[in-house]
Amino acid sequence: MADCLFCKIAAGAIPADIVHADEEFVAFRDIAPRAPVHVLLIPRRHIPSPGDLGDGDAALAGRLLVAAARIARELGLDATGFRWVLNSGADGGQTVPHLHLHVLGGRELGWPPG
Ligand code: 5GP
Ligand code: ZN
Repeated sequence: MADCLFCKIAAGAIPADIVHADEEFVAFRDIAPRAPVHVLLIPRRHIPSPGDLGDGDAALAGRLLVAAARIARELGLDATGFRWVLNSGADGGQTVPHLHLHVLGGRELGWPPG
């Protein structure tokens, strides 16, 4: 999508600190980290939000979680633990309308979210 920040990052048109890239997904460090490790994992395909996932996206959604687990391991978070967050829409706190999974770790995270 031409006017999407995360599509531009996936295409390399806007720089980011990339930690993983493959044919289907890109992961990069959040510009305003909320934890010592804060990575965003996105599909290259422009899906606006988690609420837009449909039946045809089941395999992609599964691979997204497997990729997120691999990234957490590669970032050394598996021993101490980590959190995945998928914000959707305004009440969900989504600010960038391209589906992204937050991988947060490196400190104890509070619960419930504010
Ligand atoms: P959301 O609030 O939509 O769930 O998460 C969007 C995230 O994208 C935020 O944590 C925000 O800091 C991050 N972000 C916004 N703009 C940029 C950017 O240009 N580069 C990077 N790396 N992260 C960004
Ligand atoms: Zn996009």
